Amino acid sequence: MAKPHSAIYSILTLRCPRCRSGKLFVKSSPYPYKTMAQMPEKCPVCGLDFNPEPGFYWGAMYVSYGLTVAFSVFNYAWMYLIWGWVTWQFLIVNAILLVIMIPVTFRYARCIYFYIIQGFESKFKGEE
Ligand SMILES: [Zn+2]
Repeated sequence: MAKPHSAIYSILTLRCPRCRSGKLFVKSSPYPYKTMAQMPEKCPVCGLDFNPEPGFYWGAMYVSYGLTVAFSVFNYAWMYLIWGWVTWQFLIVNAILLVIMIPVTFRYARCIYFYIIQGFESKFKGEE
């Protein structure tokens, strides 16, 4: 099956890792927090199971941790360079930004994790 988009574009737009067309989440907006995790059971385009096994997305916590650390380092760099802020000011503002970004981080962590696992599986099955 020809893939319509690159992997980077598909991850940024939260698309299915197999067909790169179907949307991974029911609602386009990650807000409100209540609906941020709603995913269809299967890809509407290729039928890939979006919940292959119970607890599948536990591994996404590691991706989420990495994204959070990268986001915090980025925040520290620009806050220090622009305002020359000390650590306690950074910690307060960064904590607020991290809470606001929870749904975005959550979705991208799931998406990236799904791409990693799907990539391994498709190579194992000889689909690539
Ligand atoms: Zn699909």
